Amino acid sequence: MTPAPSSGADYACAILTIDLDAVAANYRLLRGAAAGACAAVVKADGYGLGAARVGARLAREGCRQFFVAQIEEGIALRPAVGAAEIFILNGLTAGAETAFTEHGLKPVLNDPGQIAAWRAHGEHLGAPQDAILHVDTGMSRLGLAPEEVETLAADPDGLKGLNLLYFMTHLVSGESLKNRINQDQKARFEAALARLEPLAPAARASLANSSGVFLGPDYHYDLTRPGCALYGVNPTDRAENPMRHTVTLMGRILQVRSIDAPQTVGYGATHRAGGPARIATVGVGYADGYLRHLSSNGTCYIGSTKVPVVGRVSMDLITLDVTGVPEADARPGGLVEVLGPNVTVDAAAAAADTIGYEILTSLGPRYRRVYIDADPETGG
Ligand SMILES: *Cc1c(COP(=O)(O)O)cnc(C)c1O
Repeated sequence: MTPAPSSGADYACAILTIDLDAVAANYRLLRGAAAGACAAVVKADGYGLGAARVGARLAREGCRQFFVAQIEEGIALRPAVGAAEIFILNGLTAGAETAFTEHGLKPVLNDPGQIAAWRAHGEHLGAPQDAILHVDTGMSRLGLAPEEVETLAADPDGLKGLNLLYFMTHLVSGESLKNRINQDQKARFEAALARLEPLAPAARASLANSSGVFLGPDYHYDLTRPGCALYGVNPTDRAENPMRHTVTLMGRILQVRSIDAPQTVGYGATHRAGGPARIATVGVGYADGYLRHLSSNGTCYIGSTKVPVVGRVSMDLITLDVTGVPEADARPGGLVEVLGPNVTVDAAAAAADTIGYEILTSLGPRYRRVYIDADPETGG
């Protein structure tokens, strides 16, 4: 008999397990909470989890609307999500019109030039094309500025030749439930809707990202656009996270060094073991997205024992103080929890002085990826 081929999971330096069942459960929770329809934001490769896998699973959960940032992301996503709508947040870049229609992508129109170009494309094709119109209510980033809304509203034919599906805006601080800026943005959005709806009476409205869903039904409108909450990041500023965790990262112990005399650990000699200690070296580094800010700052777990990162994070390695762990539990070949139930994405983000979004989107290409998917398309 030929031996079964190795899965690689037994020798990989780090194993990233992505729980698509948890992503699906998070989607169902968000959809159930929303007054209207619920899209899924899968930009930046599904916040690092794999846009095609996430998209395919959520399409099977009944998600009909997906958002990505870039047209290339939309092209890559198309085969995974069947006939679902794919919207491109970064808008219509010059010359991309044909690629949009070829791949069935719909632009979020962010400025008057894009409106004009998309209308011209519709005229060229002989039919008004679908789009979302983005109105800026406080980000000063993408979308129509207030004076551009006024100019547009002054022309009764300003949105003619487009099939406008939604007016959209984006929250600045949706995660701070008590922040007044949420109400201010909602009021500005309402004012813009009042001006623009006569130009496109069939268009609906979309405001809420993940956090906006938790601001209450007043913020839901017709389509919510959650991203981070799908992937388990806490969308609220409450202590209790309503979402399920979706990623577990286990790092392999490559070597364990016993230190007797005082000795420094790692680049720059930033950590000094003063007395007898055991240092485990694990095959995860900043090239994998284990942020260098976690030097002498991060935490891992062996079983239920906390083991601190000591010394600098290297490109391919971190060093952990495992002095308090029984030798049998911290051996070369063993695994340590780098992210998981004890080290949540939000906790790792807090230690790294960043946000869960950055921890997730930094998850590196060298990790061996294992997907949990109780509803796979191909039974694999
Ligand atoms: C990224 C993004 C979202 C999703 O935001 P989350 O905070 O991850 O839920 C929604 N809308 C727009 C315009 C975005 O850029």
